[in-house]
Amino acid sequence: MSKLGISHGCTNLRNFACRCEFMNFSKNKSCLRCQGSRPKRELLPGEWECPSCDFMNFRKNATCYKCRCDRPKDNGKEYEDQIWNSPR
Ligand SMILES: [Zn+2]
Ligand SMILES: [Zn+2]
Repeated sequence: MSKLGISHGCTNLRNFACRCEFMNFSKNKSCLRCQGSRPKRELLPGEWECPSCDFMNFRKNATCYKCRCDRPKDNGKEYEDQIWNSPR
């Protein structure tokens, strides 16, 4: 793990760190430095990310809590992602 100078307490901003360790704003869809695609956020088991508004929804939500769009159907591969994103 690398120190990126993120201060705790600003998790609402949901900035993301690219593989190149450049810190991007949450609004960025790709890295400003290397143009790499945004890495998947680490979701808790069952959580899903709204494809249209980026809101993180709980498993119980069948539709996005924020924009009411349907939960994406590709939850099958989410299981593999969880293994890959095993907690530290
Ligand atoms: Zn990058
Ligand atoms: Zn949404």
